[in-house]
Amino acid sequence: MHETSIVQALLEQVESQARAHKASSVQKVTLRLGELAGVEAELLVTAFDVYREQTVAKGAALEIVRVPALYRCPRCSREVHRGDFLQCPDCAVGARLIAGDEIVLERLEMEVD
Ligand SMILES: [Zn+2]
Repeated sequence: MHETSIVQALLEQVESQARAHKASSVQKVTLRLGELAGVEAELLVTAFDVYREQTVAKGAALEIVRVPALYRCPRCSREVHRGDFLQCPDCAVGARLIAGDEIVLERLEMEVD
């Protein structure tokens, strides 16, 4: 399952950041998840609940911020939305994806002794 390896990588990141900040526990993990990332948010939460148990994040909640796909014209920077024809109406060049395929650890709330 794809989501399992994502959660394991996420928890490794959380643990190394917690160590770097000498945190004793993590309360909350905020993750940015793009709509084109190919990941089910519900499955991520389920996997997180299982794998957090043995980590510093065992009491942490996982908050997922969904990021819609956003395209932009590489020439004039005009935004082109998903569902539209993915081409700039002014420049007639193909729009480029600038957001919506990311899986990024955005924020950690930690307890430091
Ligand atoms: Zn343009």
